[in-house]
Amino acid sequence: MKKNLIVVLGGGESGVGAALLSKKMGFKPFVSDSGVILNKYKKILVENGISFEEKGHTENIIIQKSIKVIKSPGISREDPLIKKINYLGIPIVSELEFGKNYRNTSYIISITGSNGKTTTSHIVYKILKKEGIHVGIAGNIGRSFSREVLNKKKDVYVLEVSSFQLDDCFKFRSNIAVLLNITRDHLNRYNNSFEKYIFSKFRIATHQNKEDIFIYNHDDPIIRKEFKKYPIVSNCIPFSIKEKLHVGAYIKWNHIFFRNKNQEEIGILNVEKIPLKGDHNLSNVMAAVLVSSTLNVQKKSIISTILELTPIEHRMEKVLNINGVQFINDSKATNVNSVFYALKSMNAPTIWIAGGQDKGNDYEELLPLVKEKVKAIIFLGKENKKFVNFFQDVIDIMVETESLRQAVRIAYLLSIHGDNILLSPACSSFNLFKDYKERGHKFKQEVRKLFYEKNRYFFE
Ligand code: ADP
Repeated sequence: MKKNLIVVLGGGESGVGAALLSKKMGFKPFVSDSGVILNKYKKILVENGISFEEKGHTENIIIQKSIKVIKSPGISREDPLIKKINYLGIPIVSELEFGKNYRNTSYIISITGSNGKTTTSHIVYKILKKEGIHVGIAGNIGRSFSREVLNKKKDVYVLEVSSFQLDDCFKFRSNIAVLLNITRDHLNRYNNSFEKYIFSKFRIATHQNKEDIFIYNHDDPIIRKEFKKYPIVSNCIPFSIKEKLHVGAYIKWNHIFFRNKNQEEIGILNVEKIPLKGDHNLSNVMAAVLVSSTLNVQKKSIISTILELTPIEHRMEKVLNINGVQFINDSKATNVNSVFYALKSMNAPTIWIAGGQDKGNDYEELLPLVKEKVKAIIFLGKENKKFVNFFQDVIDIMVETESLRQAVRIAYLLSIHGDNILLSPACSSFNLFKDYKERGHKFKQEVRKLFYEKNRYFFE
């Protein structure tokens, strides 16, 4: 019998994409998930005649019959089944690598970092699109690369890449790799080792060759410190919002500048004109400017795209202003560093709604900002002991709540005209919500209900 069975572990977005591509390539895919597969994905599998199982793995099929395993980034390499597959020498690949093999002549731009991946990937994508480049976007943004490549071939792909995806990449090479920042995140998946997480992030550059470009954040102390440890042969181009560099992108006279291949200095635009606020977004824009300049995109396409940027949902998204109190949805802030930038950008006293599932957080870097800007903390969920203990000496008002409805209402009661109410959890959502999107939507829903109640006489 011809051996052509590919087992896809995990029936989510990446798994279903990989299964569809395997089928198109003439393999026989089998999707196996330890949990429940969402109906929308089951439907696709059924429609395409792809067999699958859920709520458990049939090890015999996986171990005895598969020629290759494509693993969802959600499954840890420490998982006993993965260890067994590795031990038996069955190749495990990521769906990114699988997709890349299929479209091996397209130009790949990969973007990673602890924070800012989605925002920067979108900025790059929009600029390239405006320039008229035939470009696609995929990866961790919620669209599998394997699925994207099934469409008509694109000349360039912008990929948002997470550390979990990088862990499964062994040959995946990006023509342009971008490393935005490295801060403590997901340490529960890395045996609490920051070193391992850093190693994973640098994989985006260590697979590149001499012709490739590696764009990195010069302001990030971890990146600068760890850089020398890794064998990077690509052309390294930094960006900085703090130092006037002699290469790459930097700020001068409050404008973004970069140096092109001929070392000419090119001015882009005044920092104040960027609609996405905060230092973190300035960094994201600078990274995107460097990617675009490397591809010789015209200055006018870069500038006009930047001027049209709007915040992506759940990222410092202004919801409503109720009687002078501004509600902000930053549900995507699932780690300490993203909250750092959220608080840094607050220009009024802030009531901070936080909490959820702690991922090995260290709140130390938030202390000065919390002291300066936060007047009360509202905790979501029940497992916030570590959080509460950490801030109890600096914040007088701390309230534990069990729902977003309660959190929104208590926050509003504690606020006065001119305050901000910021949902920026620093934690994953798993013990209360399906994901950060559900948390953000519920928050907005509760804010809207409150708005309606407070302004009822306008509506009746
Ligand atoms: P990612 O895709 O890496 O999770 P997002 O662009 O979705 O990043 O943003 C996630 C969170 O991080 C949001 O709260 C956002 O405001 C914040 N953020 C965005 N860019 C940065 C950055 N460069 N540094 C720190 N935080 C950032």
